[in-house]
Amino acid sequence: MDIVPATDSLCMKDLVAFCKRKGFIFLSSELYGGLNGFFDYGPLGVELKRNLKNLWWKNMVQDREDMVGLDSSIILHPRVWKASGHIDGFSDPMVDCKVTKARYRADQVFYAPVAVQGEKIGYICVTDGEEREAEVEKKVKALLKASHHSQEKPDEIHLKPLIEAQPEEFAFIPSPATGHPGDLTPPRNFNLMFSTQVGAVASEASMAYLRPETAQGIFINFKNVTDSTRVKLPFGIAQIGKAFRNEITPRNFTFRSREFEQMEIEYFFPPDDHLWPKLHQEWIEARYQWHCSIGIKKEWLSLQVHEKKDLAHYAKACTDIVFRYPFGVQELEGIAVRGNFDLTQHQTFSGKPLEYFDEERKIKYLPYVIEPSVGVDRTMLALLVSAYDEDEINGEKRTVLRFHPNLAPIKAAVFPLVKNKPELVEKARGLFSRLQKRWYVRYDETGAIGRRYRRMDEIGTPWCITVDFDSLEKNTYTLRDRDTTQQVRLSEAELIAFFEKALM
Ligand code: ATP
Repeated sequence: MDIVPATDSLCMKDLVAFCKRKGFIFLSSELYGGLNGFFDYGPLGVELKRNLKNLWWKNMVQDREDMVGLDSSIILHPRVWKASGHIDGFSDPMVDCKVTKARYRADQVFYAPVAVQGEKIGYICVTDGEEREAEVEKKVKALLKASHHSQEKPDEIHLKPLIEAQPEEFAFIPSPATGHPGDLTPPRNFNLMFSTQVGAVASEASMAYLRPETAQGIFINFKNVTDSTRVKLPFGIAQIGKAFRNEITPRNFTFRSREFEQMEIEYFFPPDDHLWPKLHQEWIEARYQWHCSIGIKKEWLSLQVHEKKDLAHYAKACTDIVFRYPFGVQELEGIAVRGNFDLTQHQTFSGKPLEYFDEERKIKYLPYVIEPSVGVDRTMLALLVSAYDEDEINGEKRTVLRFHPNLAPIKAAVFPLVKNKPELVEKARGLFSRLQKRWYVRYDETGAIGRRYRRMDEIGTPWCITVDFDSLEKNTYTLRDRDTTQQVRLSEAELIAFFEKALM
């Protein structure tokens, strides 16, 4: 078999179209023109998402002895967000274009003065994204032309985020939307929490928020968990659930959305400063290996250590696991050492003791915590980008999603060789219904066998089982592998043993 590997030239436009065409991800409320920053997971997307969350839960909670789970509510008492600092500080700097009303996050817009032989001729301003380099070139060229310097070479351009611009520079920086200097407002803070009202009477007192992270639900249940279970430090509490952020500029498909899901762990341990560096490293290693184990491309994963000066005042360290998405290298997961800031705040604001009693040392304390926090949607995007491939088999192009079998929406497809032979159909249906009791498998009898293979390759089904005339005589089936396209003949017992070994 002749298989030509593909290049990694996937662009987001193609991925978005593919996800819609195949029923992985749709823009939410598309019927009504769509709602920016919200997405719906289609028939295959929902399976992939469920498999991902189940695998995380199994590996992070059930396979470990030092973890328990939790499912807290989305709307919490508003004081929770006062204590956590979200009401006062969970904001992004925002700038508006006064003319077009376009809104930007000031740390995602970049500006630079343009000079020719040391003499400043104006400013350029571009938004972050796939086209940034090309945009810079175009805008510099236009500026040189407008200032009659077309024949000259500009000095080196140093782009800086707009949040670093001096107030007096705003009169000269052009809006990315209009290109006219002075059209942008200076940055101001915008709180990212969605607010709502609880109860029939809307007033200041009934104001509540959709949680912007799942973590606070864990902290406020710390005492409930230690009182109701026999956990001993060090131990972690895990939670998977929806989070909401009114992002100023949702973009890059599901990467930055306004409604998303998080898989978060708060791992508690005694507040001794010599303990956290080792535990932190262990979590970074465990989480990095986990991403590799589920089929995210290792060569596109890396670690980014936050510099001390960029850490929140209470944080001791933070390392991000980043992934090379088609739009750039971006955060997939953050692993922060948060000290005991959150428990201290909730103890103070609630006025209730949250200390842990260490039976060995006979002392009470508020434990420190390490927080590995990853987005479900960002992980799915990394999985799709890693799995998407195009190759050629015997001269025929195919699209194939090389999902890890544990993540693949459909595990196997059963085909009768032809649909007009009742004995083949009956045998295939029988095998299908027995397999269906254990795994998510599908039955398909329409079209040539090659087409049926392609359909399954395209949605990442790892195996296809064909029932042919030999199956009637010898009770064996051909099992075809998605990645190698190789086929082997197996009995039903061998097929089941194979799936049991290959799948979670
Ligand atoms: P970013 O800097 O990219 O906004 P963050 O540092 O604010 O992310 P955290 O608050 O640490 O993110 O949230 C933990 C995880 O939740 C992130 O690593 C990411 O996977 C996910 N996440 C955060 N914001 C979003 C979003 N708007 N859309 C999708 N996933 C998100």
